[in-house]
Amino acid sequence: MKKYHLDTIAVQAGWEPKNGESRVAPIIQSTTFKYDSAEELADLFDLKAAGHFYTRLSNPTVEVLEKKFAALEGGIASIAASSGQSATAIAVMNLCSAGDHIVSAGTIYGGTSNLLGHSFEKLGIETTFVDQNASEDEIFAAVRPNTKMIFGESLSNPSVKVLDFEKFANIAKRAGVPFVVDNTFPTPFLCRPFDFGANIVIHSTSKYSDGHACALGGIVVDKGDFDYAASGKFPGLTTPDESYHGLVYTDAFGPAAFIAKARTHVMRDFGMMMAPMNAWLTNMNMETLPLRMERHSSNAQKVAEFLAKHPKVEWINYPGLPDSPENARAKKYLKANGGVMTFGPKGGRKAAEKFLNSLELTAIAIHVADARTCALHPASTTHRQLSDKEQAATGILPELVRLSIGLEYAGDIIADLDQALAKI
Ligand SMILES: *Cc1c(COP(=O)(O)O)cnc(C)c1O
Repeated sequence: MKKYHLDTIAVQAGWEPKNGESRVAPIIQSTTFKYDSAEELADLFDLKAAGHFYTRLSNPTVEVLEKKFAALEGGIASIAASSGQSATAIAVMNLCSAGDHIVSAGTIYGGTSNLLGHSFEKLGIETTFVDQNASEDEIFAAVRPNTKMIFGESLSNPSVKVLDFEKFANIAKRAGVPFVVDNTFPTPFLCRPFDFGANIVIHSTSKYSDGHACALGGIVVDKGDFDYAASGKFPGLTTPDESYHGLVYTDAFGPAAFIAKARTHVMRDFGMMMAPMNAWLTNMNMETLPLRMERHSSNAQKVAEFLAKHPKVEWINYPGLPDSPENARAKKYLKANGGVMTFGPKGGRKAAEKFLNSLELTAIAIHVADARTCALHPASTTHRQLSDKEQAATGILPELVRLSIGLEYAGDIIADLDQALAKI
């Protein structure tokens, strides 16, 4: 595809129908694909020819979404996964083995802290969580000889802290390892991680990308600029893979080695592929993503300004407010701030619970980042499995309410929050 504006890529990339083909990308709801000769299939298995043969490895509908995402982020390739969690797992498993180490920003999604801090730790991959406001040298002190990636969230869920890209990119450069960024909340429309030093971007597409709360999914996008051979730290990519008759990914695929290995090794063995139906829905919904991100952001700005002035609100955290400690970084790295914010009503945990139970239009939902406004109390739900210390480390206070502002009329959302606040 020619070089177009991001808004055009959102609508048109990934599926360019030939004469007489369907205008809309079709759903290829098939696990497998038929070939005329054993030799053709053998060439596919040997990666000598490109083509689909089993949906655990690739599928034409999933490929449409993969192409669109790679184009939107400005990467060379991407691989879609069954969820955001599996997308993160792919990135980790593709770079790390037992005995390796990760340095991660501490203020991240609860599911990711569990995955890195507990599940991968049990498999021998250790993570050090750092205070992302610490100085570059303090964070760099956490890097070890066996560190294989630096990780952070561009805009953290749920605490909406903006990552200091420059600092983390410098640390990754000094450590000689890839800088991996979870760009779920801003989407490619509000943040451009590859312009700020990220080498790999992951998303939970279950959030704004789908945006209608109808399909789980995740994706890993590679910029293709990290030199694995030169770094000497990634034998999985630069030495023969015995499980793939001696293939050396960096030799066979050059800058596309990371995604090639993610597919032919991690996806082949762990099988967390996105379902074609979910890829179809996500791809369709992404056609309106730039429009939706504008509206989510402008609605949220109005709600944040309303809450900031409300007498029953103790504190509010939204990067778009001028007195937010995130505001300067938000202006530097984000085009707008999205629909998610947190606030603390006066009266602590009890007041938060009363507020939630008084909402009418706003639903109590675990989800964030879809068309319908919803609210959540993380301390009793999403972050419930973390210890008090871990909760504090991820920035969760007992009274914290997370709001995800939808696409409804802003006046209706504000009226609902106002009547619920009146009841506490
Ligand atoms: C939701 C979320 C995830 C996990 O995604 P799932 O699709 O729910 O598995 C990862 N990172 C961030 C920032 C998220 O918001």
